[in-house]
Amino acid sequence: MVNVGILGATGMVGQRFIELLADHPNFEVTALTASSRSAGKRYEDAVTWHLESKIPEAIGDTIVVDTDPSRVKDVEIVFSALPTQHASVVEPKFAEAGMKVASNASAMRMEPDVPLVVPEVNPEHLDLIETQQRKRGWDGFIVTNPNCSTIALVMTLKPLYDQFNIKRVYVSTMQAVSGAGYNGVPSMAIVDNLVPFIGDEEEKMESETLHLLGDFDGTTVTDANFGVSASCHRVAVLDGHTEAVFIEMKDDFEVDDIKQSFSNFNGLPQKLKLHSAPENPIVIREELNRPQPRMDRMAGNGMAVSVGRIRRDDVFNNSLKYILVGHNTIRGAAGASILNAELINEIM
Ligand code: NAP
Repeated sequence: MVNVGILGATGMVGQRFIELLADHPNFEVTALTASSRSAGKRYEDAVTWHLESKIPEAIGDTIVVDTDPSRVKDVEIVFSALPTQHASVVEPKFAEAGMKVASNASAMRMEPDVPLVVPEVNPEHLDLIETQQRKRGWDGFIVTNPNCSTIALVMTLKPLYDQFNIKRVYVSTMQAVSGAGYNGVPSMAIVDNLVPFIGDEEEKMESETLHLLGDFDGTTVTDANFGVSASCHRVAVLDGHTEAVFIEMKDDFEVDDIKQSFSNFNGLPQKLKLHSAPENPIVIREELNRPQPRMDRMAGNGMAVSVGRIRRDDVFNNSLKYILVGHNTIRGAAGASILNAELINEIM
């Protein structure tokens, strides 16, 4: 078993880490960190638990420590669910102290020597770890996963990017409140309402998508070369981001070929049968009123993306549209980091 720690263990994503790592076949949680507000308390006393599952017994009694590498002993991997501004300062310290950091935060995602990885999409970008360690003189390293709405989008774009000629992508999101953390969206702002702005989200979706699909020559990632334009919105849904995707291709296509491409899609995690890998990363729904967040967010134990209403857009040439749903704190956050760590554990 590999000893692992969770940084920011009391937050929305931290709780998902705890849930998903309970009974994990390779990883055992031996350290939990949070802010000085929580440090020194039993986990059960420090956390406001929001998940339907119970806090695992051994975890409830664990004492939360400060988010400082000197307080985290005998741990090989740390999963980071820290706020971005704190992650940018602290995650490098954990890597410098020799730990492997699998991060959810956006702080380091676009650094040229930090792999931004979705294992089904661009596992080869993990080779950047060597460059990173050499350049920074670290024994450990940082690997990141993208923003929650980007992950779901890029998983559906990858098979299309490989088989068709994408010219431009427009995406409009309807994002769950859990995506902003427990204190993120006040109930008075979201009940009976929709908020048509999520800070920095559109920029992240546009840049991270092209980076994930970029070419890697062994040392540098060159971003993919097509247009991505995002409009992001917060809706009164607890978990599960919905996205309306519009794609213009350079050439004509058959809708059946698009569906075939989605349903045949899989990657290294499926070949290696990694513990958290969904058997089918993309699940196609044929019903006219699916996917819906409440009904489809748990597809593949929350690790698959559900796609429906796949249809030709007859208004524009060579255009396609579809709706997707992905679980934002599982596939879009904690589950994504865990899958990255499972892959690293298997191949490195
Ligand atoms: P959250 O619910 O606000 O939780 C934040 C966590 O960080 C808590 O454990 C908190 O501890 C800890 N923390 C806050 N300030 C700290 C400090 N100064 N020092 C040490 N620990 C500190 O946030 P979240 O939604 O879980 O998001 C965590 C990260 O994941 C963010 O970077 C976010 O952008 C990213 N992310 C979130 C999602 C999502 O769907 N929620 C998806 C993808 C990525 P206390 O309880 O002690 O305050």
